[in-house]
Amino acid sequence: MNNELITMNNFLLDFLYPKKCVNCKKVGEYLCSNCQLDLKQGDLVCPTCERLSIGGITHPVCRRKYALDGLWSLGIYQNPLRISIQKLKYKWVTALAESLINITLEYWAKNPPILLDYIKKDRGNSWTIVPVPLHWTRKNWRGFNQSELLAKLLSKKLGLNHQDALIRTKKTKPQVKLKSYDRRMNIKNAFSLSPSMNNELITNNILLIDDVWTTGATLKECTYVLKKGGAKTVWALTLAR
Ligand SMILES: [Zn+2]
Ligand SMILES: [Zn+2]
Repeated sequence: MNNELITMNNFLLDFLYPKKCVNCKKVGEYLCSNCQLDLKQGDLVCPTCERLSIGGITHPVCRRKYALDGLWSLGIYQNPLRISIQKLKYKWVTALAESLINITLEYWAKNPPILLDYIKKDRGNSWTIVPVPLHWTRKNWRGFNQSELLAKLLSKKLGLNHQDALIRTKKTKPQVKLKSYDRRMNIKNAFSLSPSMNNELITNNILLIDDVWTTGATLKECTYVLKKGGAKTVWALTLAR
């Protein structure tokens, strides 16, 4: 398709489906600048005990061989972030995912997280971005995996490798309907390294991406598989907590 046609198509799309803020419905952007200001940055916590921790690093006493080394989240799981994430999951709003990644990076530019220092230390050479996978039946039904989309966008903007290193082997019940203990049981043994990895990770350090941290059960289970597979360091990055 030539450029003129693409511009024409975009123009038509904007005309037929004008971009509206998912939170306040104002026309123009998927998340308007006013609502972006309402986005609340939460405190960073240790992923093991969920108590305050500088930079979201796992406390030395909370460190475990197969556990997360840190957790960074953009904000609190309330509107406008909550509604944005819900739209991301159930609608095909790629541009919204891009807005959320841009907001994350703008925030990083102003408040560089410790995580970014770690990544920069070796110029990102040994860091790979890995999304939390969906079971293939669910992905087919929904059409795409929002974590995969976020991982792809982030890797492109940070210039890091990106790999679908995990697959979901067990079809699990949606975690939202379960209590904490049941969530852990539900997600247990639900993941494995992707067959394309030949049981070997090509990287030491992994940045694991998901949209929300609730009890952390899913991200902890993924971390276990990645570390069993040879990863030295695994950090989790989520939009909300
Ligand atoms: Zn708005
Ligand atoms: Zn801790």
